[in-house]
Amino acid sequence: MRYDVLVIGAGPGGGSAALHAARAGLSTLIVELDPEVGTPVHCGECLSELAVENLDLEIPDNVKALDVKGIRVIFPDGTEKLLTEKGYVLEKHLFEQWLCDEAVKEGAELKLRHRVDSMERIYNSENQFLYWKIDGKGDEFPLECKSVIDASGVSGAASKILDMGTNIEVIAGIQYEILDVENDGYLDFYIWPKYSPHGYVWMIPKEGGRANVGLVTPDKKGATSYLKSFIEDTYFDGKPTVNPPWRKEGMKVRPFGGTIPISGPRSVTVGDGLILVGDAAGFTSPLFEGGSHLALWSGREAAKTIASLIASDTHLSKEKMMAYEKAWKKTFPPYSKILKGKTALYELTDEEMSIMAHCLPEELGNMSPLQKLGIGFKILFKRPMLFTKRIIHVLLSFGYSRAKFFGW
Ligand SMILES: Cc1cc2nc3c(=O)[nH]c(=O)nc-3n(C[C@H](O)[C@H](O)[C@H](O)COP(=O)(O)OP(=O)(O)OC[C@H]3O[C@@H](n4cnc5c(N)ncnc54)[C@H](O)[C@@H]3O)c2cc1C
Repeated sequence: MRYDVLVIGAGPGGGSAALHAARAGLSTLIVELDPEVGTPVHCGECLSELAVENLDLEIPDNVKALDVKGIRVIFPDGTEKLLTEKGYVLEKHLFEQWLCDEAVKEGAELKLRHRVDSMERIYNSENQFLYWKIDGKGDEFPLECKSVIDASGVSGAASKILDMGTNIEVIAGIQYEILDVENDGYLDFYIWPKYSPHGYVWMIPKEGGRANVGLVTPDKKGATSYLKSFIEDTYFDGKPTVNPPWRKEGMKVRPFGGTIPISGPRSVTVGDGLILVGDAAGFTSPLFEGGSHLALWSGREAAKTIASLIASDTHLSKEKMMAYEKAWKKTFPPYSKILKGKTALYELTDEEMSIMAHCLPEELGNMSPLQKLGIGFKILFKRPMLFTKRIIHVLLSFGYSRAKFFGW
């Protein structure tokens, strides 16, 4: 059997790629190394309404844990500002399982406990790429396929196996599930460097008083103790900390999470017969580290690119696959600008962050040029030195972290 598309990984990127490949009539196989799709969860589980629209699917109620109004950003002195855009907190494992089920309904095959370990390209005598020979752990291997969509997440299977010469830096993210947490429909993002240097802390609420309380930080070893300090010093102190429902009963309560790429898109995201999507391509939004929206969009785009090349009987050469790279470069926000703003943000002292926050309007999204000018004057009046600290870049990076720009 030679598949049109092999999708490595059944996360949001892989699920979306498989769904759209199968919808386009391509014979599609998804291989997932874990015994179950979606677990363990390594995500805060929030996803914007816009991201779901990009899937061209109605999201079922059972995968939603709460409908939310947007993000509340909380600065070190407690000042609160809003980024109002609707979305959901998901039961992410159920969302990923549902997405894969939808792909299977469209004709894709799914093989669990299958890990790709080896990839070999086969060329014809004119050095044109023909197909892949893929091997690994699992009954389905070895197999042949015309194309590979690598959706293997931060581990970047294809980039490693093929030694594509690109590396990524990562940041650690961990969280606890906490009970008895009230919510008003907003996700709370605390920019409180004391508890999460060069990162932030979140409270992502679910129905029934459940909430993911977690943080990201480059200090992987210190992450758990930072999180424990935050919980002890805030209103979460004394609330029950439990294991999430997807964990086996009786297990000791411990945090869950993973790592997130933070060095930006890999310099190579396509090759002969190959497209990288989602975290495997390094696609995350650098300020708040959301990646599911980017994974869903890039999975769909990869499938569309391959489907149109196969339909026109074109060799799946790197040159042809570049259509995908051009599409994401045209669509995604400027990574380096957001990163510049993030760096500038973390160079501010707590006091400077709070002064800046006082000068901002209640709603951080959709600021008009006049509003931006007004903010500039306020900052100039309160703390002129802040202008030397690239405050405009900071504001830009908040703007680019909205769902509209694939932030979540
Ligand atoms: C703590 C934390 C909180 C986060 N919170 C949010 C959030 O709230 N909102 C948001 O948008 N993003 C969030 N993210 C980021 C988000 O989880 C990722 O960007 C997103 O899951 C990327 O999707 P993906 O499909 O590219 O990769 P993944 O979801 O990582 O899926 C990759 C899949 O590939 C499988 N795999 C790996 N290697 C192989 C192989 N060789 N063979 C077969 N299968 C393989 C893995 O088992 C996995 O199932 C968070 C991340 C972390 C760590």
